[in-house]
Amino acid sequence: MSTPSISNAAISDTLRKVFGFRAFRPNQESVVRAILDRRDVFAVMPTGGGKSLCYQLPAVLLPGTCMVVSPLIALMKDQVDGARANGIQASFLNSSQLPDERDDVVRTLQAGKLNLLYVAPERFSLSHFRQLLNRVPLSMVVIDEAHCISEWGHDFRPDYLSLSELVTLFPHLPIAAFTATATHRVQQDILDKLALRTPLVVRASFDRPNLTYEVCFKDNVDAQLVSLLKSNKGGAGIIYRTSRKNVNDTAAMLQAKGFRVLPYHAGLTDAERQKNQEAFIRDEADVMVATIAFGMGIDKSNIRFVIHADIPKSIENYYQETGRAGRDGEPAHCTLLFAQGDIHKVRFFIDSMLDETERAKALGALTRVISFASTSVCRRRTLLDYFGEHYPHQNCNGCDICLGTRDVVDCTREAQMLLSAIVRTEERFGATHIIDVVMGSANKRILDFGHNKLKTYGVGKDRGKKFWRQLVDELLAHGVLAKAEGLYPTLLLLPKAVRILKGEERLDIVRVLEPEAPKILQSKSDAPYSQELFDLLRSLRKQIADEQGLPPYVVFSDRTLRDMAAHSPRTAEALLSISGVGDVKLERYGRQFLRAIDRFCDNAS
Ligand code: ADP
Ligand code: ZN
Repeated sequence: MSTPSISNAAISDTLRKVFGFRAFRPNQESVVRAILDRRDVFAVMPTGGGKSLCYQLPAVLLPGTCMVVSPLIALMKDQVDGARANGIQASFLNSSQLPDERDDVVRTLQAGKLNLLYVAPERFSLSHFRQLLNRVPLSMVVIDEAHCISEWGHDFRPDYLSLSELVTLFPHLPIAAFTATATHRVQQDILDKLALRTPLVVRASFDRPNLTYEVCFKDNVDAQLVSLLKSNKGGAGIIYRTSRKNVNDTAAMLQAKGFRVLPYHAGLTDAERQKNQEAFIRDEADVMVATIAFGMGIDKSNIRFVIHADIPKSIENYYQETGRAGRDGEPAHCTLLFAQGDIHKVRFFIDSMLDETERAKALGALTRVISFASTSVCRRRTLLDYFGEHYPHQNCNGCDICLGTRDVVDCTREAQMLLSAIVRTEERFGATHIIDVVMGSANKRILDFGHNKLKTYGVGKDRGKKFWRQLVDELLAHGVLAKAEGLYPTLLLLPKAVRILKGEERLDIVRVLEPEAPKILQSKSDAPYSQELFDLLRSLRKQIADEQGLPPYVVFSDRTLRDMAAHSPRTAEALLSISGVGDVKLERYGRQFLRAIDRFCDNAS
């Protein structure tokens, strides 16, 4: 089967008219081109990288229907809503529909009227579905969340294994597989399982340039959350907490202070969860306080912040959870509230795990999170490093370390005092006693052991107990000290301790001293815009979304509204030049938005 080749002009025309975008994001163009040339594709692109456009654009241009295999019913609906809002003929087939609705979709499909058809993987095991596919002209097959086919991935789905047959079933169609997370090992597994034919392989950077990362010393969580929410001025966000109880308490506390927040965890009924999630998606609740049960299957693109009020399970979890912020490419903030005290809680939980391999895995993951939170190295660099990616710039300009909002304190001298007290007491005492030595306490135990005669006795008396406690925690976190297993948790020196004692290595510590109020870092945004106009357009968007039964971000993204608020377009032509406004959206919503902008500008002048 051959189709005449599609010109670059036709591609950029479609990009502008259907999607309302002037330019491709990185890698989009090469993927689109490959698919149009009927070549298989495998692409790893981060969340918010713009994967949908990579196949939706070819789906508009190629004759026939593009079939998209997608694992989550909730996401299918969102994708279909989004495509339809741009005037693309899209539908889905899944178990949530009534037989009548499904028949309707099948009829439209058979009439050749669909650009896009979303289906769940289990449909492939149904023989009548396969027969149906034989009767309709398809343009291509897309596999979304392709990592679900790999047992090495974090989200294996047995149903996905049936997708191995695609190549045999459709030898003449291009097959394009997409995912946001795949280590090299998972990538190879996906390629093998799908048996793609000399595919174009794209591995985009894992970097999310619009996200700002910040770690704050967790001191008084409630007050810190209130202050973070205040500085977010009603933007949408997620607060992650570990336990259901904490979720409930935090949600109640914030509600009592007048914030529009809702809880989400596995202890709520399905109906409650559904209701709360829906309210969040529709911008009726600003903030979701949730356990990590929340997030999968959420396509909401205008999440402006993610706060971890408890320590995340692993770096991968942290990356995924923060990754839900800023899918629309607009600036978004990720704040981790970190207290050494939390480590003990998690340690306790891990120590109680029965399976030894699992326990070791959990411990390893925790250690990396602690090191991420305690390090004075760029957070972005550390995250990317985890995925085996080298961050090429000195300063990312998007984390607390690089933005210089954090004091990196040289605590080498203080560390030497502690370590030397441990040496002089022959590694036979725990933290409390060592701190007593350094602080020069005259308690009975000290006197009994004659530790008041040590050279290090009282050398650190101008510092408080809290400081020394934190320093011990930091030394444990930095792998300078270890705690003995067993009945007496005495402090033991690791090789790094010797180097610090000899002055061969420094100990830099971030924010060990005074806790400070966390604040939202200033983010880099382009053109200045009127917040007042933005808020006005946001409520217009909400009103239209409600009338049409759509999530607000499907009508227009935050980015589009902000561009409008920056440039105040007064004509249809000017509106078309705003990112995210294509022909169909102009026709559907243009008049209302132009009128709102007109009224605002006239009142202002
Ligand atoms: P992903 O599925 O990779 O997480 P999406 O396909 O949901 O990402 O796209 C994320 C956001 O980026 C959407 O709001 C989309 O409209 C926007 N977007 C995609 N491509 C472009 C582009 N070329 N220019 C501007 N915005 C884009
Ligand atoms: Zn940085």
